[in-house]
Amino acid sequence: MIRTTHRPKRSLGQNFLQDQGTAAKIVASLDAPTNARVLEIGPGQGALTRWLNQSGCTLHALEKDADLAAELKARWPDLSLLVMDALEFPWERLHGPWNIIGNLPYNVASPIIWDVVSRVSDLERGIFMVQKEVADRIAAIPGNRSYGALSVWVQSHVQVRRLFVVGPHVFYPRPKIDSAVIRFLPLPNEERTTCGPALRKLLNICFQQRRKQLKTILRSFWHEYLTMWLIDQGLKPECRPEELSPKQFQHLAQLLFAVEA
Ligand code: SAM
Repeated sequence: MIRTTHRPKRSLGQNFLQDQGTAAKIVASLDAPTNARVLEIGPGQGALTRWLNQSGCTLHALEKDADLAAELKARWPDLSLLVMDALEFPWERLHGPWNIIGNLPYNVASPIIWDVVSRVSDLERGIFMVQKEVADRIAAIPGNRSYGALSVWVQSHVQVRRLFVVGPHVFYPRPKIDSAVIRFLPLPNEERTTCGPALRKLLNICFQQRRKQLKTILRSFWHEYLTMWLIDQGLKPECRPEELSPKQFQHLAQLLFAVEA
């Protein structure tokens, strides 16, 4: 850890990992090949950065807090570090295989993950520590209470695995909740959605009214062929959005909006 007088900023979700064992375990789960290009989001005081630097990867980092960035640069002058907001990062410009890792700030973890999985064209691996509840939502399966737009979106772009839970005691300041580490691997090309804008539109419509029946939610788009398609899928027009698998959402999005999206 960097010796620092830095006061953690709540607005930037600064809960710094203090436990070296946990940091090493997170970096080990990236399992990046030697020389792999790795981008760390939010290096903070360098808990993961230290292990990443020793792993033989080509490391780049993205930190919003200029004070911390200056401390990181003082410690690792060769670190390729961008001082910017990950929410404004041009993810499409990452060409070729990239590994992305981060102990993400709680307040922006979901939008960062939403962007990374859909806008990085060749994500080799992703390892993220997030609030446990967010990890549960990302990995949830249809019918589960946590299943929603984020689950469908992420699982339509990458393979998801929830790896392990991390308790509050390894952070300073201590959060009130558990965190969890999740891993993303590429989906086979034919399984990755090709209708992102249409899928996003459908998810917005469906999960704003998740307790309603699909037939009611989609009444202004309803056609007889949708009834046929649902029956063919083993579903009923009266089903609720949370009963559809990511694959079925993708298919439905294509049927409804792909042309206009
Ligand atoms: N990686 C460090 C660790 O494990 O101890 C810090 C993790 S801390 C939970 C989140 C880090 O992300 C902080 O360093 C914070 O300044 C940075 N951060 C917060 N919002 C950010 C954003 N929008 N873009 C980039 N970095 C951000």
